Amino acid sequence: MTDNQSTTPTDFIRAIIQEDNRTGRFGGWVHTRFPPEPNGYLHIGHAKSICLNFGVANDFGGKYNLRFDDTNPTKEEHEYVQSIQEDIRWLGFDWEDRLFFASDYFEQLYEYAVRLIKKGKAYVCDLSADEIREYRGTLTQPGRESPYRDRSVEENLDLFERMRASEFPDGARTLRARIDMSSGNLNLRDPILYRILHESHHRTGDKWCIYPMYDWAHGQSDSIEGITHSICTLEFQDHRPLYDWFLDELEIFHPQQIEFARLNLNYTVMSKRKLLQLVNEKRVSGWDDPRMPTLSGMRRRGYPPESIRDFAERVGVARNESVVDIALLEYCVRQDLNRCAPRVMTVLNPLKVVIDNYPDDLVEEMQAINNPEDPSAGTRNVPFSKVLYIEQDDFREDPPKKFFRLAPGREVRLRYAYFITCTGVVKDPQTGEILELHCTYDPATRGGDAPDGRKVKATLHWVSAQHALPIEVRQYDRLFLVENPYQVVEGQTWLDNLNPNSLEILDPCYAEPGLKSAQVLDRFQFERQGYFCLDPDSTTDKLIFNRTVALRDSWAKIEKNL
Ligand code: ATP
Ligand code: MG
Repeated sequence: MTDNQSTTPTDFIRAIIQEDNRTGRFGGWVHTRFPPEPNGYLHIGHAKSICLNFGVANDFGGKYNLRFDDTNPTKEEHEYVQSIQEDIRWLGFDWEDRLFFASDYFEQLYEYAVRLIKKGKAYVCDLSADEIREYRGTLTQPGRESPYRDRSVEENLDLFERMRASEFPDGARTLRARIDMSSGNLNLRDPILYRILHESHHRTGDKWCIYPMYDWAHGQSDSIEGITHSICTLEFQDHRPLYDWFLDELEIFHPQQIEFARLNLNYTVMSKRKLLQLVNEKRVSGWDDPRMPTLSGMRRRGYPPESIRDFAERVGVARNESVVDIALLEYCVRQDLNRCAPRVMTVLNPLKVVIDNYPDDLVEEMQAINNPEDPSAGTRNVPFSKVLYIEQDDFREDPPKKFFRLAPGREVRLRYAYFITCTGVVKDPQTGEILELHCTYDPATRGGDAPDGRKVKATLHWVSAQHALPIEVRQYDRLFLVENPYQVVEGQTWLDNLNPNSLEILDPCYAEPGLKSAQVLDRFQFERQGYFCLDPDSTTDKLIFNRTVALRDSWAKIEKNL
């Protein structure tokens, strides 16, 4: 027995399941599934659905399936089948041997359709797609019955078999359920079950030229797999009466459908069609562009899977639509990385510092802490020498109030090293650009404290110039400029809301030499900057780091508000 069976459930779905278990409705058994259509990569919304479906099964000691709802041969591709599996595994779930495809049930679904025909509950219709739409009526007007609605069972069986046998061209006929053309629920107005489509399918090849509609395939696939709780998003609520009708007419195992609200995030789009457009129009580098809300994009950007699961849990499940602030996701990412990511020193916008009183050839190894949150991560040595790089932002020739970092005549601490005092500024005589700083150090402050007890107000990170590892850094900002990309002024489209500065490349940046051994997707905290992850575009000659998420920069905040 797991906790969820005895304690208060955390959401309304778990409450329903707990009640079903109490009444013994499914014999106490819980079996869920995640049913993606392989027509795009998974995004963070799908992650919510996965965490919910698979999480529920885990909580109740049940099982979960991965099933591809691959009923549409024109839009589905093998690439997506692969990527979806990779992403779910990465997220931390294992469907064991329970990988299924709706296309595996085509024969069974065909038989079910024959069963409906024999009961007089389905018919072959010769209306065109346009005519069917026209006959369908509207929310306020009932539909009209198709002139083919009263065909005999024999004729329907014959025509349906010939549809399958490729006797008719695309669109010539459909198989429709015979329900109620005046139903208040448009889904019940004789919906199409099968259409003719002479297209190759990624798994069944040319075996079929009729394909089941999603609505016909989905509920029956759940039934075939013995899914007890068929969890789906709210837009399927109005389809539930149809699914119930199918299952009842067929008299087969009847899962319980439960709907919940989709996850929406601000500053992004989540429709697969829109994401595909971004990819096709090369607005991003691909489905796994680190700015994309896809799981492959987030993986490449450095988001740990734990943080996505944590996010899904914090967001919870509800029955009303809402938009979640992307800052919550970033918070979860920071929380997780703060715990796990080793710290390193890197300088992103380098400013050269010469320590005039430091011996020319001396190199000292300074001991640095790998992760203050995790003592077991130990320490490493970082080389220190006469010429260093610090961050341009850490120096102001004319420091404003509250700027406590380096300035002429001022003393600061170099992390894990010495106190230094700025004694001179070398500038380009033409442009006035600061080329390098001259400083002195106090040898008595090694390790970062002054024996006389004097204090400094800032601690800067640094990299020894002669040991520096040049790296490229890709800094990402929100993909869209506005919270709701679909809100546009007249004459513009959602694409006009794209942030033109969502990618900034810094090259060269300098890192402490130990970073050379980083492996693709390894994550780090670059001290005082943020979290970064090694991009797969890296080569042995050139390491490229993606900024996963920035740390909060207190000075930048003050400056903005000045
Ligand atoms: P489409 O609109 O193209 O069908 P989809 O996002 O519904 O796209 P599916 O592959 O059908 O894509 O989704 C698989 C499962 O993920 C479905 O059960 C769907 O309800 C769920 N899902 C999709 N988007 C979200 C979201 N934003 N939040 C929560 N669940 C989602
Ligand atoms: Mg869908």
